[in-house]
Amino acid sequence: MTDSTFNALVLRKDDEGKTHAAIEQLSAADLPDEEVLVKVEYSSLNYKDGMALTGTGKIVHTWPMVPGIDLAGTVVDGGTSSYQTGDRVVLTGWSVGEKYWGGYSQYQKVRPEWLVPLPQGLSTQQSMAVGTAGLTAMLCVMALEDNGVQPADGPVVVSGSAGGVGSVAVALLAKLGYQVAAITGRESSHNYLRQLGASILLSRKEMAERSRPLEKSRWAGAIDTVGGDILARLLAEANYGGCVAACGLAADFKLPTTVMPFILRNVRLQGVDSVMCPIERRTQAWNRLAAELPENMLNAINQVASLEELPELAQAIIKGQVQGRVVVDLQA
Ligand code: NDP
Repeated sequence: MTDSTFNALVLRKDDEGKTHAAIEQLSAADLPDEEVLVKVEYSSLNYKDGMALTGTGKIVHTWPMVPGIDLAGTVVDGGTSSYQTGDRVVLTGWSVGEKYWGGYSQYQKVRPEWLVPLPQGLSTQQSMAVGTAGLTAMLCVMALEDNGVQPADGPVVVSGSAGGVGSVAVALLAKLGYQVAAITGRESSHNYLRQLGASILLSRKEMAERSRPLEKSRWAGAIDTVGGDILARLLAEANYGGCVAACGLAADFKLPTTVMPFILRNVRLQGVDSVMCPIERRTQAWNRLAAELPENMLNAINQVASLEELPELAQAIIKGQVQGRVVVDLQA
């Protein structure tokens, strides 16, 4: 590999600060000085990757950047780490694709502490159908469980449900026996969401209407991927003692709420971060994803794309037009 060149999607910033994405030929010497060399088989497209590729928000911290916050592949050289040549590995988060070069490259060099062994029962492609979005969905489900939300307590609602985090959250909750309500802005996704296990479908427009401080309580738990007025409504509609796990800002980073759900209904708002999630909880989440996410659901939520297709798909994910997960095939 050392003598040959390989493809990577590289982001560069012009003098006016505009982001440009192009496929470039790199060699091993171009890669960062990190310990483990991985032949990347698959990466994925997350909302954050869409932001990086389109120059939305300040996602990229160093230039030029190889984006892609997720990767899965085979170790070519583990350096002095415990990883051996041939080990299958997965990487999500740790600011890879933001501060450090990421998964949109046929080869990448990364730190061993960023890697987890590919969970048993998942292929590298399936692990990227999960990716950061799926890991975050699992962490949200675990957050609800930690806060005592059980299937017998009543329905759990998911916002941004046809997106990446939302799709995996709906499928996982349904598999675990929860009654799932899905909020979506796309009527065309209703059948898809029913197929994943949602039994209640709610309109994004109605759920985004400004709520009163307290509304009629109807949710034992909620997984929110969008923030803003919808998150405020989910808090106002939570049952006494209910829990809302908040992980996203696809609508808004603001939260126009009051203290009423917290002080009168004992509602808990649990933040969820996947990027810096400690390795023990991360590994636990991956093992549960491998065990609990049905294979037919994984197949239903993912589509495969090439590096060339990413700039266009990045525009689509920012506009909320991508359904489920996009897996990127690096060896195609
Ligand atoms: P996607 O784009 O795949 O999903 C977001 C979904 O939100 C869309 O598909 C759409 O679903 C809905 N949506 C889009 N725009 C709006 C809007 N203006 N108002 C309300 N709903 C909207 O993104 P991901 O699933 O990858 O990520 C979702 C969010 O979670 C992002 O904000 C992302 O940054 C965040 N995230 C956070 C992580 C963490 O560690 N905390 C990790 C991963 C993601 P529908 O059409 O069904 O309404």
